[in-house]
Amino acid sequence: MTPLRLVLDPIACDGHGLCAELLPELIALDDWGYPVLVRSEVPPGLEGYARRAVATCPKLALRVESGSRAPRGPGGPPARVRRPAAPGVG
Ligand code: SF4
Repeated sequence: MTPLRLVLDPIACDGHGLCAELLPELIALDDWGYPVLVRSEVPPGLEGYARRAVATCPKLALRVESGSRAPRGPGGPPARVRRPAAPGVG
């Protein structure tokens, strides 16, 4: 059976963190509350939870893909883009 991969679109994400609450085994939150994939490959026992997180994302920023396509970028999944702090913050 082809493994599933979890893919995050950081541009579409609003950063409310719902996905990390639903799938903490694979998704953590950074210091700004934006999701970071702990690992992109979805273990067989978590496929249902991953699909639920994808279906629940209000911004359609998560998806699951089948296949073992090479990740984009050098050595791993796409890097999470950190947004600059608002003026006067930090
Ligand atoms: S549920 Fe969707 S919009 Fe919310 S933090 Fe996760 S990926 Fe971003």
